[in-house]
Amino acid sequence: MAVTHLDSLDKIVSLSKARGIIFQSSDIYGGLGAVYDYGPLGVELKRNLQQAWWDEMTRRHDNIVGVDAAIFMHPKVWEASGHVEGFNDPMIDDKQSKKRYRADMLIEQQIEKLKSDGKQKQADELQEKLDTAGSRKGLCEDLQELILENEIRAPDSGAFDWTPVRQFNLMFKTQFGAASSADDDDAVYLRPETAQGIFVNYKNVLDTSRQKIPFGIAQIGKAFRNEVVARQFVFRMREFEQMEMQYFVEPGTDEKHYEEWLKKRLEWFERIGIRNEYLRAEDHPEDKLAHYARAAADIQYKFPIGWQEVEGVHNRTDFDLSRHQEYSGKKMEYFDQAKGERYVPYVVETSIGLDRCLLMVLCDAYREEEVEGETRTVLKMHPKLAPIQAGIFPLIKKPELKELARKIESDLQEEYSVFYDESGSIGKRYRRLDEAGTPFCITVDFDGLEDQTVTIRYRDDMKQDRVSVDRLDEVIREGIRSWKPETG
Ligand code: ATP
Repeated sequence: MAVTHLDSLDKIVSLSKARGIIFQSSDIYGGLGAVYDYGPLGVELKRNLQQAWWDEMTRRHDNIVGVDAAIFMHPKVWEASGHVEGFNDPMIDDKQSKKRYRADMLIEQQIEKLKSDGKQKQADELQEKLDTAGSRKGLCEDLQELILENEIRAPDSGAFDWTPVRQFNLMFKTQFGAASSADDDDAVYLRPETAQGIFVNYKNVLDTSRQKIPFGIAQIGKAFRNEVVARQFVFRMREFEQMEMQYFVEPGTDEKHYEEWLKKRLEWFERIGIRNEYLRAEDHPEDKLAHYARAAADIQYKFPIGWQEVEGVHNRTDFDLSRHQEYSGKKMEYFDQAKGERYVPYVVETSIGLDRCLLMVLCDAYREEEVEGETRTVLKMHPKLAPIQAGIFPLIKKPELKELARKIESDLQEEYSVFYDESGSIGKRYRRLDEAGTPFCITVDFDGLEDQTVTIRYRDDMKQDRVSVDRLDEVIREGIRSWKPETG
């Protein structure tokens, strides 16, 4: 059987739209840039992924508890966290097209161009200068110089008519309460990460949950970033969802915990059925670490757009808690009774984007297969993530068949997400659910009325088995438990 894999995100974008997985936000008005809505299948997939992460973090670890903090936070939070001052991207505008670009990305594109033109030496020199940008006159000035020196033109208009490079803060500001305006110094922001909601609740959780260090706090919630380059579907959005866990540890044990979490998180990707050879962990080199981090690694997936980060694992040291201690005047220390010691804990963080993770699942599952002269599009995702786990079909629209099919539907509904479908040929019904990633389809026919058996058809290899109705639950359960991704 010939199998086609993805070479761009286009097929995922069209399948998502056609099958009700993901839509452009405000579609009837032409959409809103880098904002997306989830449709009936997408919302189920997203919930299943959320649940898989939540179970992993909170159920499998009795020292991790959850919170659900508000999106609005006190303006001081973002001063303490460093976001007001430092959550910026260096931007440059093309005066002719009025389009805005990230200055560093323009230079990176130029480096790629030089390489593909066989000018490796020039590419290496420019890379070296980009890597050290900020060390000469300042980041904006250095980037500006590189763009001008190398005569880098605007990708869309081809013009060489640039504004100066400026820092652009990625946080959305809003007005809060009737008397305020977004220009106020104490303007409220939409949170750009969920982590701070955990840090500011660290004391509350410690005082109420009887946890002892090491312990973790997990949270799933929306985050907002006014991303400038946001063109890759749900890979980079302006409103997205994060699943973060901050693990509070004794200073000195942070490196050990960091290594352990990196390993555990990689294992989770395999547990949700992602092909191993499409995953890797990449350490951040020391000179590229964020201001708060002592060590950091990205867990990357090989998307059709190349290897890209899905999750970050960071050793954030005591940066955040110490800063909140300083800005709020409230003690963030932990008292270790056994040792009689007081310290501000270090934090190991795992931070994954839910939408990006969902995109990874779709890309990993997508196959086009040639079957009997036709192309079958199928999403071979882990059955526990599938938006619809079982399709139930009466062979034809006869009352006796419908009755048994409806009974099976209501029995299985207790445990699984199921979908009853009686329209169209069986072949068409299978294909529709292949595209939805449904791992099991159950067909009720006349023979089955006699001996209470049905046909179960498996999504991945399209094999069919005859099973008795009262064994369906067991067969599906085993199918979910023993499922493994097809490699390659
Ligand atoms: P990137 O380098 O891709 O901008 P980041 O390093 O800024 O990501 P973090 O701040 O570490 O990302 O956020 C943790 C996770 O949140 C990322 O690994 C990613 O999965 C997700 N994420 C971050 N920004 C976005 C976005 N704009 N859209 C969708 N997901 C995002």
